[in-house]
Amino acid sequence: MTTLVWDYLTEYEDEREDILGAVDQVFRSGKLVMGPSVSGFESEFAEYHGVAHGVGVDNGTNALKLGLQALGVGPGDEVITVSNTAAPTVVAIDGTGATPVFVDVRREDYLMDVEQVAAAITPRTKCLLPVHLYGQCVDMAPLEALAAEHGLKILEDCAQSHGARHHGRIAGSMGDAAAFSFYPTKVLGAYGDGGATITSDAEVADNLRKLRYYGMAERYYVVRTPGHNSRLDEVQAEILRRKLRRLDGYLERRRAVARRYAEGLADTDLVLPSIAEGNDHVYYVYVVRHPERDRIIEALKSYDISLNISYPWPVHTMTGFEHLGYSRGSLPVTEELANQIFSLPMYASLSLDVQDKVISALTEVLRTV
Ligand SMILES: *Cc1c(COP(=O)(O)O)cnc(C)c1O
Repeated sequence: MTTLVWDYLTEYEDEREDILGAVDQVFRSGKLVMGPSVSGFESEFAEYHGVAHGVGVDNGTNALKLGLQALGVGPGDEVITVSNTAAPTVVAIDGTGATPVFVDVRREDYLMDVEQVAAAITPRTKCLLPVHLYGQCVDMAPLEALAAEHGLKILEDCAQSHGARHHGRIAGSMGDAAAFSFYPTKVLGAYGDGGATITSDAEVADNLRKLRYYGMAERYYVVRTPGHNSRLDEVQAEILRRKLRRLDGYLERRRAVARRYAEGLADTDLVLPSIAEGNDHVYYVYVVRHPERDRIIEALKSYDISLNISYPWPVHTMTGFEHLGYSRGSLPVTEELANQIFSLPMYASLSLDVQDKVISALTEVLRTV
């Protein structure tokens, strides 16, 4: 069987009774949309992060988009983020009518270079959008200082960092609001699409609840636009609720997988993940770097190992974002990394056998490239 960077079938076998129990519970409850599982998950997810409010939505992209809108971001505003991210981060900003503004990332840990943010602030800047990429957090203190100085909002993109910590604070508790995805591959993944935005600001939470529900505060009366139908599905919410209780266990497993890679690959010339000061990494993806990336990936195919690149194209170089006006060379570190990074198999239920197969195949391949 081909070895993939991610697979959920082992997890499903292990947790099948619980998952099917969740489905059956919802189907028998008589409440298929916005029932007790959504509200239960929302409060338990908020509590896990030590924030006051959680609002379930249909996916991570809309968690970001509605999060921005709930913070008052709209046409004419600028939002500062990175180009080394999943394209949905930028799609969400664009979807509000605001303009994404990019800063480069750091070569060591691939995260937002916060030292470049001050120079990117203009009178139109409304919000800073740090992406806690690959499973570890952006350096938040300088961003918080800039936000306070310039009266800006902070929305954290936590789609890859469920449970990550930064100087002891949990990802999602540091900004004015934080957006999560529960796409199946994520550290906390549903069995389909899902997302949530969390906040400790009651007014932002109230805005989010209206935004995901057509702009209504109550049936059937619209109080604000633009509205959306962006509800979290009741079945997915019940599955997430049960998986949230196992999240800390998933994190431990991911860290154990990361340690095994670090030991097994220590003597190769791969650049392994570097953990920024104060961070507890949750390894959504295990990203390594090598100048001969493409040849390595090609050679591993003969070992039946299929790897992934997160991400092969910096967002600012995509034709869909040409209108933003970034030329090649404008974000040099991001562009260089995109040609060198690749991801090794990483998920909580990854078996030791499969991981050892990857380590030995990689070690062999690296001797020849
Ligand atoms: C997955 C992801 C998203 C989008 O989430 P969806 O649920 O797929 O819409 C946004 N930002 C980042 C960083 C992601 O990894």
